[in-house]
Amino acid sequence: MKFTSAQRWLEELVRLPSINPGGAGKVDPQLHGEKRVTDWLENWAKSKKIQYFRQKVLPDRDNLVMVVGPDDPHAKAQLWEVHQDTVDIAGMTVPPFEARVQDGKLFGRGACDVKGSMASMLAALERLHYERPQKAWKIVLACTVDEEHTFQGVQALRGNERGFIRVNDSHQLKPEFAVVAEPSQLGLITAHKGVIRWYIRVEGSACHSSTPHLGSNAIYGAAKIASRIAGLHSEIQQKSPDAISAGSISLTQISGGSAPNIVPSECTLLLDRRIGFQECTEEAENQLKTILAQIDLGEGLRCELSTPIIRCPALQTQGNEAAENHVSKAVRQILGNCTSTAVAFGTDASTLAEHGIPSVVFGPGNIRQAHTRDEWINLSEVESAAEILFQLGSG
Ligand SMILES: [Zn+2]
Repeated sequence: MKFTSAQRWLEELVRLPSINPGGAGKVDPQLHGEKRVTDWLENWAKSKKIQYFRQKVLPDRDNLVMVVGPDDPHAKAQLWEVHQDTVDIAGMTVPPFEARVQDGKLFGRGACDVKGSMASMLAALERLHYERPQKAWKIVLACTVDEEHTFQGVQALRGNERGFIRVNDSHQLKPEFAVVAEPSQLGLITAHKGVIRWYIRVEGSACHSSTPHLGSNAIYGAAKIASRIAGLHSEIQQKSPDAISAGSISLTQISGGSAPNIVPSECTLLLDRRIGFQECTEEAENQLKTILAQIDLGEGLRCELSTPIIRCPALQTQGNEAAENHVSKAVRQILGNCTSTAVAFGTDASTLAEHGIPSVVFGPGNIRQAHTRDEWINLSEVESAAEILFQLGSG
């Protein structure tokens, strides 16, 4: 028996905490960071004699890229992309790292988002590596870091030239399409919203609050911006035909002031802009800059927009047909039918699509079970995904 059940890999992966450290208050090295998963993947590739490349992305946070299939440098290639990180475990009602199995479900953090998919990809990759089907594609399996926060793993994967990805320090190749793993209930996600986040820093001048006329209150400036942003949200929504495809803008955090009796010199706002299906990220950025420039903040006050702390474009069906065709064919061959949907949440697929690689999202599990207190996945879906991916890679 050369083909291992995906369940075995899933159990091992869920037992390795890989919480994204970004945005966490206190980082616990026993829980945060992808290193445990990356090391495991490296050993896995080594033990199977699969060619791999460990790509540095952030301190102690590496992508692990494996390549199987024909050695011919001109062989047609497909990219399978899956993230190693998970969200936090606060408030979980099931043991997060025990990988407990009950009634055909596996419970634990990351089971659904997205270690279930990773296990399917590993099982299919292993089988392709050993069975070497005649018309097999070259498969690049990229296990990336930082999807749950700032998407830096997938960004680092992109090669210098449009359409190319890095498969090691000296070699880049151009896959014909990419499958990006996220829970999609074994259907395809062909469109999703994008997201950009920025800080806006309002600066004034401090003074004692008994003589406020001597200073410039940064919170008053921030309040004017907040009110204008609320108006902008309505304008964005009115332009979209429906709520699912609509863009939006929200102020999600605010901080300012240092003491009860000091007029604050600084106030910082965090802006979350969702990019609708019909919108492009550049237009959204320019729109915001124009609006900020038009606001009269008041005397002695100025504001500054940061560079985006997160930038993920929207995924649009158009331009990604090659991926949709190949993957839906493989799904139909195994399951008999295949659905295509559009969703609100962002994935790594749009960053690859923007880079010129036709991309589609596919994986076992339901996004409703992702990030939950009792995260779980149906094991039968994980095994079906492995079969579909094997079919896809077999050509
Ligand atoms: Zn995910």
